Amino acid sequence: MIIEKMTTFGFSEGLKTTKTVIVPLGSIEQHGPHLPMHTDIFHATEIARLASQMVPVFVAPPINFGVCRSTADFPGTIGIRSDTLISIVVDVVESLYRHGIRRFILYSGHAGANHMAALLSAADDLMAAYDDTDFAVINDLDLFDTELFKLLEAHNDSHAGEFETSLIMALAPDLVGKLPPADRPHFPRPLLVRNTRACWKSGVWGDPTMASREKGERMVAILTRNLAKMAESMNNQKKKTTKTS
Ligand SMILES: [Zn+2]
Repeated sequence: MIIEKMTTFGFSEGLKTTKTVIVPLGSIEQHGPHLPMHTDIFHATEIARLASQMVPVFVAPPINFGVCRSTADFPGTIGIRSDTLISIVVDVVESLYRHGIRRFILYSGHAGANHMAALLSAADDLMAAYDDTDFAVINDLDLFDTELFKLLEAHNDSHAGEFETSLIMALAPDLVGKLPPADRPHFPRPLLVRNTRACWKSGVWGDPTMASREKGERMVAILTRNLAKMAESMNNQKKKTTKTS
């Protein structure tokens, strides 16, 4: 049930089958010379949409913008502050709550530490304010299982590498450009750097040459299955709560 494609009456009907929503989150940020900048939000939205075909669950319109740190200096990256992201998430969740949604899966295709911290902060505040809600704050890693780990051949693959390139090869092959070689930047930790591009020329962190469409199709299937399972368990939580109260 894709909320923006439903009518208001369809939404009310949908509430009879589930009070769970997946909110896709991501970023518009550089993904190397070969992947589109909406890689994170695009794949999260697609996987949420596919999961909603397997179990009754709403999918909210995607929240395109995220908190981008290491990619912020690359042309085209459009980031927002943590406070802005928290405000958007709180407003969207409160609006959905007002209409009867009680279980929220905040699923982010972008896993930056500050970005995830902002989502956790928003969820913590919302859970404290509304005691009849449940939240899951997840990114792709939370949907990994042993089958998915077995597909990955590259080590230290975190950005525009084997994993993300495979996903986009499966979901939108026309958007994948010529694959660049592997790269793994070295930042002078614990020092913070002013211009991340000075330490990171390619924008790739991992090995895109290990990607394939076949791997991507299997990855999409696994992520979808595990997200659907999570939505199902949120739905069942609803039933338990209803029975005991
Ligand atoms: Zn990404």
